[in-house]
Amino acid sequence: MGKKYVYSFGNGKAEGNGKLKDLLGGKGANLAEMSLRGVPVPPGFTITTEMCRLYWENGQVIPEYLKEEAEAALRRVEELSGKKFGDPSNPLLVSVRSGAAISMPGMMDTILNLGLNDEVVEGLAKLTNNKRFAWDAYRRFMQMLGDVALGIEHEKFEKKLNEVKSEKGVKNDLDLDADDLAKVVEKYKELYKEEGKEFPQKPEEQLWIATEAVFASWNNKRAIKYRQINGMDKMGLLGTAVNVQMMVFGNMGDDSGTGVAFTRNPNTGENEIYGEYLLNAQGEDVVAGIRTPKDISTLEKDNKKAYDKLINTMRKLEAAFKDMQDIEFTIEKGELYFLQTRNGKRTATAAVKIAVDMVEEGLVSKDIVVTRVKPADIEKLLHPAFDKEEVEKAKYFGKGLPASPGAATGIVTFTPEHAEELKAEGKQVILLRPETSPEDIGGMDAAEGILTSTGGMTSHAAVVARGMGKTAIVGAEEIVINPQERTAKANGITVKEGDWLSIDGTEGKVYVGKVKTIKPTGLEGDIRKLLDYADEVADLGVRVNADTPKDAEIAKGFGAKGIGLCRTEHMFFGEERINKMRRMIVSKTKEQREAALKDLLPMQKDDFKGLFEAMQGYAVTIRLLDPPLHEFVPHEESAIKEVAKSVGITEEELRDIIEDLHESNPMMGHRGVRLAITYPEIAEMQVKAIMLAAIEMVKEGKTVKPEIMIPLVGKVNEFTLLKERAEKVINDLLLEHQIDVEYKIGTMIEIPRATVTADEIAEHADFFSFGTNDLTQMTLGFSRDDYGKFIGEYVENGIYESDPFQHIDRNGVGKLVKTAVDLGRGSNPRIKLGVCGEHGGDPESIEFCHLVGLDYVSCSPYRVPVARLAAAQSAVEFKRGKKVNK
Ligand code: PEP
Ligand code: MG
Repeated sequence: MGKKYVYSFGNGKAEGNGKLKDLLGGKGANLAEMSLRGVPVPPGFTITTEMCRLYWENGQVIPEYLKEEAEAALRRVEELSGKKFGDPSNPLLVSVRSGAAISMPGMMDTILNLGLNDEVVEGLAKLTNNKRFAWDAYRRFMQMLGDVALGIEHEKFEKKLNEVKSEKGVKNDLDLDADDLAKVVEKYKELYKEEGKEFPQKPEEQLWIATEAVFASWNNKRAIKYRQINGMDKMGLLGTAVNVQMMVFGNMGDDSGTGVAFTRNPNTGENEIYGEYLLNAQGEDVVAGIRTPKDISTLEKDNKKAYDKLINTMRKLEAAFKDMQDIEFTIEKGELYFLQTRNGKRTATAAVKIAVDMVEEGLVSKDIVVTRVKPADIEKLLHPAFDKEEVEKAKYFGKGLPASPGAATGIVTFTPEHAEELKAEGKQVILLRPETSPEDIGGMDAAEGILTSTGGMTSHAAVVARGMGKTAIVGAEEIVINPQERTAKANGITVKEGDWLSIDGTEGKVYVGKVKTIKPTGLEGDIRKLLDYADEVADLGVRVNADTPKDAEIAKGFGAKGIGLCRTEHMFFGEERINKMRRMIVSKTKEQREAALKDLLPMQKDDFKGLFEAMQGYAVTIRLLDPPLHEFVPHEESAIKEVAKSVGITEEELRDIIEDLHESNPMMGHRGVRLAITYPEIAEMQVKAIMLAAIEMVKEGKTVKPEIMIPLVGKVNEFTLLKERAEKVINDLLLEHQIDVEYKIGTMIEIPRATVTADEIAEHADFFSFGTNDLTQMTLGFSRDDYGKFIGEYVENGIYESDPFQHIDRNGVGKLVKTAVDLGRGSNPRIKLGVCGEHGGDPESIEFCHLVGLDYVSCSPYRVPVARLAAAQSAVEFKRGKKVNK
């Protein structure tokens, strides 16, 4: 016997089964599985995806041996149904549907009511006692076959249909009776002739035309595009299967009907059957909304037997497929048939509830359910969102980069001071700035949301807003923000100070006016449980980037296990501290600087203690001062005056210092480890503060795991020099306090040179934390703050697949990370490796971190839940054999 290309199903039997999705397509495999499990499915057969491949390989011809095999299968369908193909007295009609291994909704072709011809239509009319239905089915079939399989344009059929309607003087299809529809059939036949074709009256001939059309539709434009967009062209799919199945009719009287149902409520996730149906109707009637369908529960009264069977079978299907099912059913003369079952689409809330319930019911294991909720859905559930109906009606203003998710609405202000004033008056505000700087921090904190017209995904505004969990849109280039005029203009609309504005940081869209927001419920109940499952299966740990005890507390609530990055510079921006910091910066002598630092020390120590308290038992990575000092000095005239006075120097002197600190390329300037090398006393103060806080913790009997992190190291000597200095400070302190505290000293890896000499650095370092923001900036040579101007076109032109500051550039930056991992572990197998750039909160980049074997990712507090889920998904999917997506 030759190879098998046709698999029959029906009447409790099947030649295939649910596992054969690659060969039978999703629909075919599920139909076979349903049949095997005794679910009443109309009998039929599936022609394999392998045959589709052969069809394309062999110059688009269907081989004779397939026809023989399929016709034998058709005879079996006739036997099981008791009907006959082409027999007017008891006709078998079939549907011919596509179905690939992975669902491609609406992309390929389907033909219904196949088997109708001039004689069979009369038989169907008698049998259904519904002449109109029979003629309508016939004309629809002619139209589908002509359009899908024979290349006769849909519009031409519509034109003929309209001719009959206008002859009768009606507008609606439903106003045509059986005789009118018979006229339409005549006109369609003429159309076939006009197109040089003959409508095929022989059902077998119809079957082969339709089958060929389905195979051909595998490579129609939209299907090809769909596969490209969804990354399916790399999956080795063979083609589409063809499912030929007996048609059943729900419009054969009041003992017939049709409907759709879900095994659980797809909106709430409640474990209850949810669905609707219509008696004496066809599937289309339920979807088209011409008649109002009834709730599924009332079927119990209409037809108890069918209802009971429906419910029982749905429960069985869910248990078999181990996921919420979306089914289509038809009752033909009291007989219930299942036409389709598939995993049902659901809202984010329902996805989480169903996942957790199924674990608790013992139906599905934890590692499976964690892959059923999209990380983006978790994010949606944790941030406020706009009311769907209101946002649809809202007036669109413009768009920018979705820098920090959520939805916010408030009155517009253009200065941080004004934002703070308004907030103090109890008002909600949206802060609009061309770009933000550290000086704006108070206003940013006061605002509900932040909108900037420049900057990228890792610009100051973006990073700070994400850290605060505040909605932000950055780089909205089309919106011209003018703080002097106090206006923002875009798309012919001018927004003034005091007007209402609504921003959607998830989508990056801005609306004029006030749009209602809906608050999330937080990390409670089912989300909490789901993320606990995620932690059980993930390989990567998740830490938080937190600069304050408050952020650390929030992150702990979201399940962060430790701090991966504390940007200590953010601790100096508070009103009380910035001046002390400035005094330190403007010091002319080492003594003056030390005096200023002495003032800062107790504050830093308390901050660090707060972080240690919040994260007891977990590692807390504290980074020594990183940004250029220039960022701490004032720039506006009024501020210069005030600061000069408060630090006790003349305005002139201050201006000179500011001028002196100016650098043409500050990101590559006097920052990071370079600051610590030139101003050892700053680093010394910080190390002291960290260790004093740790010592206090130990004295109080608490566990503490401080990790001191040196930023921007490019050469091992920078690191060893700093490490030596730090160790001296630490040893002195430990000796003085007669105590032992465990600590680690490590470095950020964010300069390309550090990645390729990571073996040298790792010999001395306890840990590496990849600073992928700077590493991306320096590897690509794209300024973090300016790339927004051109990245759009780069992505549009396919130069980069996506924003490399958002999703790690695997081939470039990724290779450097991998190199550093291998070199680092090679010379120091015990080294701990993490990432703390913004990529640490991005699911796609987290997958990369899992693949290169990092120990943890660290991200902003509100990303922690997303990162936990993404980490678990990476672990499960690769264990299950997911291929690396290069
Ligand atoms: C980085 O560069 O990736 C990083 C985490 O540091 P920062 O963003 O503070 O420069
Ligand atoms: Mg950095």
